[in-house]
Amino acid sequence: MPTATREKIVLIEDEADILEVLRYNLVRAGYRVVACGNGEEGLVAIRREAPQLVLLDLMLPGLDGLEVCRRLQSDPLTSSIPVIMVSAKGEEADVVLGLELGADDYVSKPFSPRELLARVRAVLRRGPLRTDAGDGDRIVRGGLVVDGNKHQVTIDGEQVTLTATEMRLLHILAAHPGRVFTRDQLLSRAIGENAVVIDRNIDVHVGAVRRKLGDYRDLIETVRGVGYRFQEPAQQPDP
Ligand code: CA
Repeated sequence: MPTATREKIVLIEDEADILEVLRYNLVRAGYRVVACGNGEEGLVAIRREAPQLVLLDLMLPGLDGLEVCRRLQSDPLTSSIPVIMVSAKGEEADVVLGLELGADDYVSKPFSPRELLARVRAVLRRGPLRTDAGDGDRIVRGGLVVDGNKHQVTIDGEQVTLTATEMRLLHILAAHPGRVFTRDQLLSRAIGENAVVIDRNIDVHVGAVRRKLGDYRDLIETVRGVGYRFQEPAQQPDP
């Protein structure tokens, strides 16, 4: 049963049947839902409702999803509200742009209600992206330990030698399990504008990190057409 304490979600989707499916599943899962059929209405609803999450279709008449995303990010009142984009097949380029504009995640149509709810829960759980990612964090996954204080990685107690760039890269990914990073985001966070590195191709650095992770290499997942993410830990079922 929905309760007054559950999170509020603003849905922006112009296709009535998809909007209804989204609304039905979110309400059934206990969320409070405000549904909007276009971007202009959506922006008004977001400012009025101050939701905990926005589910945003990319292809909208009038203001498209990317423009809605841009406006949310540029307004201090709304810039910290997480956004999950809803994309169609072939919209990977827009997904990349949206992530770089500050969206938190995306689901591709067609998606199952189960997949959608998993993404919603994951984004609500992990909160906003921390720009200080890493420092002080000690991330443990099985025998893999990524230690942010010591700038050290061990596998089953054995130290793994990473370059500074590889260390930052692994750290950013591991500190945000489940979050997709685009190549540009990883490049600017792991390498930075001024750093002197031999290869600015992020795929090369990811490849090197994976080789050094050995049996844990698959923790870094390739998200086709979009970027990379660190695997989420196995989920406990919701209480
Ligand atoms: Ca649409």
